[in-house]
Amino acid sequence: MILFTAAAPPFMKNGYVLGCERTRQAMLIDPGDEVDQLLAFAKAERLEIVGIPLTHAHVDHVSGVAQAKRQLSVPIYLHRDDLFLYEQATAIGLKYGLQVETPPPVDVFYDLSPIRFGDYEVRVHHTPGHCPGGVAAAATGRDPGRHVGQRVGGVRTVCDRAESPRCRSSGVGQPGQSGRD
Ligand SMILES: [Zn+2]
Repeated sequence: MILFTAAAPPFMKNGYVLGCERTRQAMLIDPGDEVDQLLAFAKAERLEIVGIPLTHAHVDHVSGVAQAKRQLSVPIYLHRDDLFLYEQATAIGLKYGLQVETPPPVDVFYDLSPIRFGDYEVRVHHTPGHCPGGVAAAATGRDPGRHVGQRVGGVRTVCDRAESPRCRSSGVGQPGQSGRD
């Protein structure tokens, strides 16, 4: 499995490209301000992005969705409980002094169906707490004989608490966020 991670100011949260090394199909997960880096990686690696799954809809995880959708024309996935955040992304960005392009409509609300890319699939699990519609995404091989597992955008990764100075600092909350997650 191919996994590429990138981050960009001001939030320095992670966005991901997750790809199948055999078929070159890939997922673009949580494209934010680092969307250019993610798309450049996909192009350099000759990856065909076939979906944009979002772990949640805080503005730092959706600020690159409009650009990605425009370039890729592939489905956007989100948990329904975060739609209210998604639809306010531009307004919430303004509160941070940021110009956030309004993300296009969600194409698919998560259900129990796996999202397939090449020899792999992503299954999401509803993990509310960080925000109402947060999900943890587990990517595994579709062939049980090739069991390769990667967890991306899990509860901890979602908020990037371990890696982002912004998320480590206290009192930096976003609408819909509970506690200090
Ligand atoms: Zn968040």
